Amino acid sequence: MTQLQVTKFEELKKGLKGEILLPGDDGYEGARKIWNAAIDKRPGAIVRCATTSDVIRAVNFARDRGVVLAVRGGGHNIAGNALCDDGIVIDLSQMKAASVDPGARRVTIEGGATLADLDAATQAHGLATPVGINSTTGVAGLTLGGGFGWLSRKYGLTIDNLESAGVVTAAGEVVRASATEHPDLFWALRGGGGNFGVVTRFEFRLHPVGPGVLSGLIVYPLSEAKSVLQQYRDFAAQAPDDLSVWTILRQAPPLPFLPKEVHGKGIVALALLYAGDPQQGQPLIEPLRKFGTPVGEHVGVQPYTAWQQAFDPLLAAGARNYWKSHNFSTLSDGLFEAVIDYSRRLPSPQCEIFIGALGGATGRAAPGATAYAHRSAQFVLNVHGRWESPSDDARCIGWARDFFDASAPFASGGVYVNFLTADESNRVRAAYGANYDRLARVKRKYDPNNLFRMNQNIKPS
Ligand SMILES: Cc1cc2nc3c(=O)[nH]c(=O)nc-3n(C[C@H](O)[C@H](O)[C@H](O)COP(=O)(O)OP(=O)(O)OC[C@H]3O[C@@H](n4cnc5c(N)ncnc54)[C@H](O)[C@@H]3O)c2cc1C
Repeated sequence: MTQLQVTKFEELKKGLKGEILLPGDDGYEGARKIWNAAIDKRPGAIVRCATTSDVIRAVNFARDRGVVLAVRGGGHNIAGNALCDDGIVIDLSQMKAASVDPGARRVTIEGGATLADLDAATQAHGLATPVGINSTTGVAGLTLGGGFGWLSRKYGLTIDNLESAGVVTAAGEVVRASATEHPDLFWALRGGGGNFGVVTRFEFRLHPVGPGVLSGLIVYPLSEAKSVLQQYRDFAAQAPDDLSVWTILRQAPPLPFLPKEVHGKGIVALALLYAGDPQQGQPLIEPLRKFGTPVGEHVGVQPYTAWQQAFDPLLAAGARNYWKSHNFSTLSDGLFEAVIDYSRRLPSPQCEIFIGALGGATGRAAPGATAYAHRSAQFVLNVHGRWESPSDDARCIGWARDFFDASAPFASGGVYVNFLTADESNRVRAAYGANYDRLARVKRKYDPNNLFRMNQNIKPS
C-alpha cells in the first residue's frame, strides 16, 4: 500500500466510532477471514463500524474516491462477496443489538447480527421469525436473498416477515423502507441481495414458537436411500405446513446416537421440525420412522434455539467450500438416481447433498410481490462440496460440478441467489428470474453508479 493510500484511510479514521484495520494491523488477518476458507482476499481497509454514522462515513469515502466497496454482514456467503481485494470493507460484525417488543410481536435488529443473536433475543419471549438452519449465518445476507428454514412452511420466507429496514444508500442518506416508505426499495430488498445499500437495521414480525419444539434426526443407511427418498417425496406432498422435513445424504458423522459401526458410512438423514404443539406432531412424524430400518434416531422436544444450532458443528467456519444448487418443483426418480450415485462417491467426509423442503407459506405470495421470484420452488437442492486441504480443491470442486450437471435435467431452472458460488455470474439472471428488469430499474434509482457491486450483481438499467 502506498503512503498516499494510508494517508487517505487516516482521513476516514477521524471521527469514526468503530475501528479501522489496515494490512499489518493487529486483528487485520482475523478480520479478513470469512466462513468459507477458500476465499482469500486482502482488503485495503476493514472498517468495523459501531454506528450508522460510521457506515455513512465509509460509504461516502468509498463513493467519493472511487474505491471498491464490500459489505460484510455475517460473512457466511459462499461466494465471498463480504470481502474485496484492495478496497474498503464495511464490517458490521460489531452491530448486533436487538430489541424485542413482545406485545407488538416485533424485533428490531442491527445489520451485523447472526441468526443466533436473533433467535436468542426473540426466544427470550417465546417468539421467533423464520430464518436459516445454521445459527452462525448473518441475518442481513440471508434476509436480503429471501431466507428460509424450519419455520418457513408455516410462516413464509424471512422476507415475508420483514416489516421495515433502515438503509444507508449509495448517496450516503439514511432511509426507512417499508410498505409505505420507499416501497420500491422495500420490494427490491426482499430478494434483491445487497445491491441497494447497507441495511443497518431490520424489523421483523414474530410468531409464538416453542420454546420446546419437536425436532431431530431419523437416520437410514445409504443402501435404503432410493426407497427412503421415494417415500419422503410422497410424505412431503401431503405434510402440513407445521411440519418441515429435509434430507441430507453424507457420511455418518460420529454422533453419539449413531452406533460406532455406522460412523463414516453412507447415510440418508431425515431432519425435521414440527412448529406446532409437540403432542400433535408426534403421530404425524410416526411414518418417517417406517421408511425402512433406521440406524439411529434422535428426535424429541428440545429448545428451538438448540435445534437452530444443531447443524453448527458440521458447518463450522474454516473449511474450504464450493456449493452448487438447483430449485425443483418435483423430485423425480431420475434425480434420486443421480443423488445416490454421487453420494456413493463423496470426495471428502464433509461433502453432502442437502434437499430442503419449501412449499407451504413460502409459495403463497405472488412471484412479483417481492423481489424473490421462485415462489413455485418446492425443494432446494444444495450440493455442499466441503473439505480441508487446498490439494483437494480440484477433486471436490469437480465432484460438485459433475453432480450439478447430472441433476440439472430434473431441475426447474431457477436458483436461490444466496447459494450462488463466485463463478456463477452466468446464473444471476436465473436467480432473480422474472423480477430482474424491475430490480435493474430500482438499482438505477438508488445506486446508479453500481457502488454496491460486491454481490450477485444487478446492473443499473
Ligand atoms: C452453512 C450455511 C448454511 C446456510 N443455510 C441457509 C438456510 O438454511 N437458509 C437460507 O436461506 N440460507 C442459508 N444459507 C445461505 C445464506 O443465506 C447466505 O450465505 C447469506 O448470504 C449469508 O448472509 P451473511 O450476512 O452471513 O453473508 P455475507 O457474506 O456477510 O454477505 C452476503 C451478501 O450480502 C451482502 N450484505 C451482507 N450484509 C449486508 C447488509 N447489512 N446490507 C447490505 N448488504 C449486505 C454482502 O455484501 C454480500 O453480497 C446458508 C449458508 C451457509 C454458509
